[in-house]
Amino acid sequence: MPRDRLGRSLRDLRISVTDRCSFRCTYCMPRDIFGSEYPFLKREEILTFEEIRRLAGIFADLGARKFRITGGEPLLRKDLDRLVSMLAEIEGKELALTTNGVLLADQAEALAAAGLDRVTVSLDSLDDEVHRRMSDTSIPVASVLAGIKAAERAGLSPLKINAVIRRGVNEDAIVELARRFHGSGHIVRFIEFMDVGTTNGWSLAEVVPAEEMLARLAEVYPLEPLLASYPGEVARRYRFSDGSGEVGIIASVTRPFCGDCTRARLATDGRLFTCLFASTGFDLRGPLREGASDEEIRRLLAVRWTARADRYSEERSAATAGTERIEMSYIGG
Ligand code: SAM
Ligand code: SF4
Ligand code: SF4
Repeated sequence: MPRDRLGRSLRDLRISVTDRCSFRCTYCMPRDIFGSEYPFLKREEILTFEEIRRLAGIFADLGARKFRITGGEPLLRKDLDRLVSMLAEIEGKELALTTNGVLLADQAEALAAAGLDRVTVSLDSLDDEVHRRMSDTSIPVASVLAGIKAAERAGLSPLKINAVIRRGVNEDAIVELARRFHGSGHIVRFIEFMDVGTTNGWSLAEVVPAEEMLARLAEVYPLEPLLASYPGEVARRYRFSDGSGEVGIIASVTRPFCGDCTRARLATDGRLFTCLFASTGFDLRGPLREGASDEEIRRLLAVRWTARADRYSEERSAATAGTERIEMSYIGG
């Protein structure tokens, strides 16, 4: 099992299945950049399900055990349940999906039946107007909540609910979402607004630090810290002292966790990224389509992982501010 230059092994693979989305979240795909003229990937540039399955198997040989399907919005990819059933064949794996939830009401049952283990739904506010400001769509919050209900019915509980918090836009969602899901079994995770990509106009002033989020929560629900449920967990966990569940905080800006980062990211076009903030990816689609054997691809991946020294969040500074970075909608978080 290869280890990178900081001693981290390869445990998780995020698989982006589309670069498209029905939302235009201001922090991810701002509409002025990702408008109708934006050069989204063409069909032939996108990995097929068979190509993804083959690569996932090779990643599994190298130690990857957690696979997360993401995007763009993964539920826009036609017949996604077919990919789920193909990935579900990998032994000993855990298979998760991150979605904006809008198409989940229609698809949750088929995805669960195909072998999906877990779902994370992104929801930044319960208020339609605030949700519209964050996601730049008029799709109502009710559609996302219907998706969550459908996932519950399909046996995918407990869910994780991801909320990006942006200063001056949705800070009130911290307490609102905690209240809404308190006692439900689902785990809301509050995420510091990150400087992924180069188009979202990120500034430190718009980051609500983890400490402030915790202080807001603690005013309503006393909290107690919990241990990570597995090595490398990105969210810090806190249980409600009244015993009715837990929340998480993902503080990649104020409390970076690069030392535990065991994630690789496979972009929609088959490029491998070893960091969320990388500027360049490593093409796997080329060798795949040119007839490389599994062994050759395994060797390429092992060499790539062994050379890895990424720790962007720990090095974030004025000097890193101007660097080129891949967009979140290509690699899915
Ligand atoms: N479309 C799906 C969704 O929204 O869940 C999956 C892809 S989305 C890129 C994956 C996750 O990245 C979402 O939970 C989203 O909130 C998060 N995300 C996107 N841009 C972010 C940013 N600038 N800072 C923090 N989290 C971000
Ligand atoms: Fe789409 Fe998800 Fe990005 Fe929002 S965060 S624009 S839902 S890919
Ligand atoms: Fe991993 Fe890069 Fe994020 Fe650090 S900055 S935790 S290395 S993805």
